[in-house]
Amino acid sequence: MKILVCISHVPDTTAKIAFVDNNKSYNKEGQQFIIGPNEELALTRAIDIKEAKGGNITALTVGSAEVEPTLRKALAMGADDAIRVNMDPKDAFNVSKQIAEVAKANQYDVILTGREAIDYNGGQVGEMIAEWLIYPSVSGVNDMDLEPGKAILKREIDGGYEKIECDFPLIITGQKGIAAEPKIPAMRGIMMARKKPLIVVEPVQSDNATEVLEHSLPASKASCKMVSADDMNELVRLLHEEAKVI
Ligand SMILES: Cc1cc2nc3c(=O)[nH]c(=O)nc-3n(C[C@H](O)[C@H](O)[C@H](O)COP(=O)(O)OP(=O)(O)OC[C@H]3O[C@@H](n4cnc5c(N)ncnc54)[C@H](O)[C@@H]3O)c2cc1C
Repeated sequence: MKILVCISHVPDTTAKIAFVDNNKSYNKEGQQFIIGPNEELALTRAIDIKEAKGGNITALTVGSAEVEPTLRKALAMGADDAIRVNMDPKDAFNVSKQIAEVAKANQYDVILTGREAIDYNGGQVGEMIAEWLIYPSVSGVNDMDLEPGKAILKREIDGGYEKIECDFPLIITGQKGIAAEPKIPAMRGIMMARKKPLIVVEPVQSDNATEVLEHSLPASKASCKMVSADDMNELVRLLHEEAKVI
C-alpha cells in the first residue's frame, strides 16, 4: 500500500495575521509554522494503518526550503520518506498540478490531503489533484480504513453518517475525526527522521491560474457596553441613539 500525504506548511493557529507587499502577501516574519491540522490527523490515521497492515507513507509539500522542518516533523511522526517540490506556492491550481505530477511518477494507491489548509482555506487542492489524475475522490472524511485494494470511509452528512467503499487509486480529503488526536513524535522518531530520505524535486512548468489582488483584515469589533439589567431606559436610549437600530 503506497500512501501519499500532502502536507501544507501553515502558520500556527495562534499567529497574529498581518500583510506586507501592498497587502498582497502574508507577513511570515517571526511566525511559528506547523503541519496543517486536517492533514496532521490524516497522516496520524495513515501511520496507524501502516503500523497495523504494512505499507509506505510519503509526505509531500510544495514549498521552498523553509518548509523542510515541517516535512521532518511528518517523518518524525512516522512517514517513511518525504518529497519537497521546490516552488513558492501561490495558487491551488499550480500546487495541485505539481502534486499530480509527482503522483503520476510514483503511482500511489491513496493520496491524502486535508479538507482545507488553515492559511488560505481554499479547500481545493484535493479535488483538483483528482481532476488532474482522473481519480475518484471522497472529501471531508471523518473515519478511514484501508484494506488491500480498497478504502472504507465514513463521512458526516446532515443528521448522520455515510459509509463509502472506493477502490484504489483514490484521493481522500480528511478532516477532524479521521484520527482522535495528532500523533506526537517520540524522541526515537525525531532522531530517525534526520536520516529518512527527503528528496527535492523541481516543479514542472505550470502557471498560476489565479492572482490575489489584495488581502484585508475584518473590521475590528466595537467595544462592548454593559447595561445594568434593571436600567431599561438606558438600554433603549443606547439602541436608539448609538446603535441606531430602533
Ligand atoms: C497570495 C498568496 C501567497 C501565498 N504565499 C505562500 C507562501 O509564501 N508560502 C506557502 O507555503 N504558501 C503560500 N500560499 C499558499 C499556497 O498558495 C497554498 O499552498 C495553495 O494556494 C493551496 O491553498 P488552498 O488554501 O487552496 O489549499 P486547500 O485546498 O485548502 O488545501 C487542502 C489540502 O491540500 C494540501 N495542500 C495545500 N497546500 C499544499 C502545499 N503547498 N503542499 C502540499 N499540500 C498542500 C493539504 O493537505 C491541505 O490540507 C500563498 C497563497 C496565496 C494566495
